[in-house]
Amino acid sequence: MHFGKKERSLDPATDHEWLELEDFTHRVMDDLFNHLKGIDEEKTWKPIPQETIDRFNEALPASPSSLKTVYRRFMEDILPYPSGNIHPRFWGYVQGTGSPAGVLAEILVAVMNCNVGGRDQIANHVEREVLDWAKEMLGFDAGASGVLTSGCSVADLIALTTARNVKAGYDVNKEGLNNQNGRLIFYTSNQAHSAVRQAIEVLGLGSDALRLVDVDARFKMDSTKLVDHIKQDQKDGHRPACIIATVGSVNTGAIDPLEEIIRIARDFDMWVHVDGAFGVLANLVPEYKEKLAPLKDVDSIAFDFHKWMYMPYDVGCVLIKDEKAHRNSFSHRPDYLAPLQRGLGGGGRWYSEYGVQLSRSFRALKVWFLIKLFGMDHYTQLIEQNIHQARYFAQQVEEEEALELLAPVEMNVVCFRYRVQGMEAEPLNDLNQEILFRLQERGQVAPSSTRIGDCFALRIAVVNHRSKFSDFDLLKKEVLDVAKELTSEN
Ligand SMILES: *Cc1c(COP(=O)(O)O)cnc(C)c1O
Repeated sequence: MHFGKKERSLDPATDHEWLELEDFTHRVMDDLFNHLKGIDEEKTWKPIPQETIDRFNEALPASPSSLKTVYRRFMEDILPYPSGNIHPRFWGYVQGTGSPAGVLAEILVAVMNCNVGGRDQIANHVEREVLDWAKEMLGFDAGASGVLTSGCSVADLIALTTARNVKAGYDVNKEGLNNQNGRLIFYTSNQAHSAVRQAIEVLGLGSDALRLVDVDARFKMDSTKLVDHIKQDQKDGHRPACIIATVGSVNTGAIDPLEEIIRIARDFDMWVHVDGAFGVLANLVPEYKEKLAPLKDVDSIAFDFHKWMYMPYDVGCVLIKDEKAHRNSFSHRPDYLAPLQRGLGGGGRWYSEYGVQLSRSFRALKVWFLIKLFGMDHYTQLIEQNIHQARYFAQQVEEEEALELLAPVEMNVVCFRYRVQGMEAEPLNDLNQEILFRLQERGQVAPSSTRIGDCFALRIAVVNHRSKFSDFDLLKKEVLDVAKELTSEN
């Protein structure tokens, strides 16, 4: 190694090198925006060729490559093989679309490269403002606490940690779970997202302490059954601690009966958490306002900006009414992070005190930028548009003899299948699974799947600002074409 003449850095070494990088970057941006502009001409998804996968087995590179070379690899081997959620006809899972302006916002984030674990910096104020906006969007207590997260899974984990610590009634952080005065029990519906169960596992409560309450015909938690469980648990010497209501279930978009759940929680002195990853944002739409008004009375809410507000991955959010309980669950300010009167160690609230991340990216900036740029009215109309598109497609399904709906359409999720008169349950499930495979492999539309009762379901979740109504006509046509192809093969 020679440190004699030239000190090293990762910056371009000369004005000329800076110019080269700038020019290159401008051209890359042209390529990438053209890619976005032409995205509807691309396939929704395509399988990755084995030889492409095989190229990701290089030894650790010791020497540099040219920008051109690395970028060419990206263009050839990486850009063409995403899961496809930026495509207008992608409705699999629940995946937001992102936006071209979101790309710009991410560049701003990248240039600042802030670590929003703390320190006296503007990012704290931007995050606080974004959290205030989130509370306003959901009609939640203006004094509530909150923090931006990687997504709803972590938001759920933070809220449920706080719920556990409050309802335990002793210092869990110090003593750990001792179960001396009875086991803490959590309740959610059998339609809850797996993130809830995962949080319960991570918290050391054990999934045996999670009651999966039955749902009614519309896939909402059955509150009579909920009360039965709670009473039985009390009888057995357990301690009912928290009810997790889902607003917008991942399977069908169902909304649990919030008002009843809150009343039950008050009767039994329990915490109410809402897992509303995408669904709580329906609160922006006038038609859903009344149903979601009880959100103001729950103890905590977890949701995502990267799903139904189409923000670039990743950014979720948790809101918790009891600021002190939230902070007490996570705050550590050791000597090297101590709050100081002046300088970098000042700045009041540090967001690392509200979750498990110390180093945190400046997620708030992209949210702030995009909400200011588009305005909430535009987001509201896009969410409403997605709901209307889901209803439009559901209507197409109902009008088509060969298709059937498998669940009521509560907001933006449609579960359906192809049907054949007189076909037994199992072959019909196999047929629909093969339809799913072929739809995805043809690359014109991308639904995903789930099970509704014993039925294999084709499922779309519309959180896509690029989708047009005509895209759903194509979905129906593709399903019928593939089914016809399959039945003619047999
Ligand atoms: C997506 C989703 C989650 C998990 O959120 P991530 O952002 O993927 O971590 C939790 N609950 C529901 C209802 C969801 O739809």
